[in-house]
Amino acid sequence: MAKRFVIIGGGPAGHSAATYAARLGAEVTMIEKDIVGGAAHLWDCIPSKAMIATGGALTMINHASAMGLTDVSASLDFAALRERISAIRTRLESSTTSLLESQGVTLIEGIGSLVGPNRVAVATDSEHFEIDADVILLSTGSRPRLPEWANVDGDRVLSTRDAYPPAELPSHLIVVGSGVTGVEFVHMFSSFGCDVSLVVSRQQVLPLKDPEVAAALEDDFIRRGVRLLKGARAIAVDRDAQGVTVRCDDGRQVTGSHALFAIGSLPNYESLGLESAGVVHDGGYVVVNHNCQSSVPHIYAAGDLSGKLPLSSVATMQGRKIAEHAMGLHVGPHRHIDYEKAASAIFTVPEIADVGLAEADAFAEGRKIRVTKVPFSANAKALIDEDPRGFVKIVSDPATGVVLGGSIVGRNAAELISVVALAVTAGLRVQDLYESLFVHPSLAEAISDAAE
Ligand SMILES: Cc1cc2nc3c(=O)[nH]c(=O)nc-3n(C[C@H](O)[C@H](O)[C@H](O)COP(=O)(O)OP(=O)(O)OC[C@H]3O[C@@H](n4cnc5c(N)ncnc54)[C@H](O)[C@@H]3O)c2cc1C
Repeated sequence: MAKRFVIIGGGPAGHSAATYAARLGAEVTMIEKDIVGGAAHLWDCIPSKAMIATGGALTMINHASAMGLTDVSASLDFAALRERISAIRTRLESSTTSLLESQGVTLIEGIGSLVGPNRVAVATDSEHFEIDADVILLSTGSRPRLPEWANVDGDRVLSTRDAYPPAELPSHLIVVGSGVTGVEFVHMFSSFGCDVSLVVSRQQVLPLKDPEVAAALEDDFIRRGVRLLKGARAIAVDRDAQGVTVRCDDGRQVTGSHALFAIGSLPNYESLGLESAGVVHDGGYVVVNHNCQSSVPHIYAAGDLSGKLPLSSVATMQGRKIAEHAMGLHVGPHRHIDYEKAASAIFTVPEIADVGLAEADAFAEGRKIRVTKVPFSANAKALIDEDPRGFVKIVSDPATGVVLGGSIVGRNAAELISVVALAVTAGLRVQDLYESLFVHPSLAEAISDAAE
């Protein structure tokens, strides 16, 4: 008899596990309460990058004179942007759903929860029923963390989920939170021509990133007129007919048309019935081992709920590995996910991407490393594209030359980092990078130059 594989939550983790498990012969049922594709398609990765792409096109057109073009200009049609985001969501949902159905996955629109180690309850609009499972995957994702005092109303005071896109274009947006999500919002709305202020609780935007990388972004924000309130923690939001005022703990305050909170996320675990199956969690994040198994070996957790790296790419990889493990394929230690080697990107301008060991972390750990860096101002393609901002930095082991990490700031950094990610994952040496024959002229040449 085929293994009954039940998945609660159809985001990137659930979707990839369903696809692979079905291919490997499981009888897969996926329960999803909103849309197949998850928060990633509905609110997070896809709408954010679609809006950033529109802002990028607008900026490029309005700076076309640098490319020798005249009389070229564009302005934002906000209603058209809203339609574009909605159309992308619909297309993605339909292609993801068709793919799963073509593989024989049973999709149930409803809310799933555990009622025992091998039994899942399902509540749909019209009925409640239970199904038996040999393997269960919990992949219910996360939601924005919002302080109660912020009084998020989805109108003037927004969570990240209200902003893709908001009902109207803010004239002055105050972003609270300067992590990856916060800075992407700053970039996006300032590229639409909105005034933007950013409340930064520490002294550096992107506090967890390499200081040199963060400085490159700060410079760009300042050049664009973004107001940075550094070392300020937001403690209250006042709303009146004119707009909103965010007050900070050091007495400073800033008034704008809208405020947006991007201060992290919380796991969706409360109604999952974890206790009924004996699944252990830590603050709502299901505790998992290197195979993503929970304290109950046939119940797995993946994606944001597993408390590992909150990235769609990581969720997808976990889903795939879980399918392989649950279906009995050999998943030895060499095939465990090494979260330290996950590439990530921030879709600002300049784009920022990194992978593996960061220079600042190696320095803090007292680890010996070799760091080589090349600016894009020395790269022919960057000059041709009229965008010589940023640099490529490669971190390697001075004794063996093995590439340990890298950071890229500049145009197409999110694409270019894949080359360095491959080198880190495959244990390649800097020599392998600089002896590869890259296309000329290309931005990637900066990687081989930095490795030299
Ligand atoms: C603004 C923003 C931008 C982002 N951009 C990127 C990016 O560019 N690249 C990237 O890699 N990552 C990005 N992320 C992170 C990424 O979105 C998440 O890491 C990813 O969505 C996690 O996938 P998941 O499968 O765990 O959960 P989700 O995508 O959150 O999906 C979980 C699904 O479970 C469903 N669900 C919840 N409870 C139940 C239940 N009881 N029964 C049935 N269904 C249920 C939900 O409806 C949802 O569809 C971004 C995050 C944010 C907030």
